[in-house]
Amino acid sequence: MTDIAARLEELRERGLYRRLRLIEGPQGPRVTLDGREVLLLCSNDYLGLAADRRVREAAAEAALRWGAGAGASRLISGTMAPHRELEAALAAFKGYDRALLFGSGYLANTGTIAALAGPGEVVFSDELNHASIIDGCRLARAETVVYRHNDVEHLESLLRSATGKPALVVTDGIFSMDGDVAPLAELLDLARRHGARLMVDEAHATGALGPGGRGSVSAAGLSGEVDVVMGTMGKALGSYGAYVCANAETVDYLVNRARPFVFSTAPAPPIVGAARAALGILESEPERVDRLRANARVLREGLAAEGFLGGASTTQIVPIEIGEAEATMALCERALERGVFVQGIRPPTVPEGSSRLRFTVMATHGPEELCRAAREVGAAAREIGLLKAPTLAG
Ligand SMILES: *Cc1c(COP(=O)(O)O)cnc(C)c1O
Repeated sequence: MTDIAARLEELRERGLYRRLRLIEGPQGPRVTLDGREVLLLCSNDYLGLAADRRVREAAAEAALRWGAGAGASRLISGTMAPHRELEAALAAFKGYDRALLFGSGYLANTGTIAALAGPGEVVFSDELNHASIIDGCRLARAETVVYRHNDVEHLESLLRSATGKPALVVTDGIFSMDGDVAPLAELLDLARRHGARLMVDEAHATGALGPGGRGSVSAAGLSGEVDVVMGTMGKALGSYGAYVCANAETVDYLVNRARPFVFSTAPAPPIVGAARAALGILESEPERVDRLRANARVLREGLAAEGFLGGASTTQIVPIEIGEAEATMALCERALERGVFVQGIRPPTVPEGSSRLRFTVMATHGPEELCRAAREVGAAAREIGLLKAPTLAG
């Protein structure tokens, strides 16, 4: 066997092999998967904007007016009016002086962290932060210190005993695999007292938390206070790409020093046009955010009624922890047979032994669909012995 074949075999043996599934048609509450209609409960298109007619038209119009591609990095040839306009709109929406677009959230996190923290400095990172934050810490030539999940006291003790100069505290706003929210006011207070900046990743919080979906920072009343707020256009904004909000000086620095901004082609006009339209819809139809929150509650309650233990989630990301990867994927397959597509999440995305089914709710699901999804996954779990049959008390 070749080296690569052996490595693939090992992944299969450990229940960690992943394969791609074919979806026909756009993202939506229901999709056709491998030829069958199923309920989709693993899309981050939280507000149903990826397939919104107005967003699609904006993408098409931007393609016709500005072209399919940006041509280069913006420092070379790429700054176009749509980039400027979207940045101004995002900065205003988030309550910041400036915003800077990146090709993706992965690029925004790696580029920003590596630009803001250097040799002799320390980045403090929550243990459950997204992989793109972890990789940003690896690329920054600063020391990385990992603190226990949402544990402010642990962070404080680490900040006190840091050997280098504290540079950055970085956290997800909503944690992507757990659906809980970071204690931002306390984190900001600690960062301030120790002379560090605070950076918050709002990939899942934009469109979901805070007034009008402005995010976790806005929900905590800290717009303009948290030093760096990163968000993406690929989730609730239904498009692709990402942005970093900060003061003018910091953004100017990132233009000069964030390597994925300097060395990667600017976001293509169609995705920029689509994101601008989606942001406009989010601002004019805040009821979508209310519907997302109400739907998330319906699903959490439905899963609790089936006997699944509620985790720390208070948001549209609702995991049920199973433990082993094989059992998790067995439940995923059974749920799919029952018409519910919810993704199993395994290491390295989550720590060893904490594999889980991770539901993500959309504003466009009907409440009855979410109740049905909870019932079907409950039945699937009983079929394979992961949940006991219901007692008379329910
Ligand atoms: C999805 C995600 C990213 C990456 O964003 P992309 O635009 O998909 O590259 C970064 N951080 C978090 C928390 C995410 O969930």
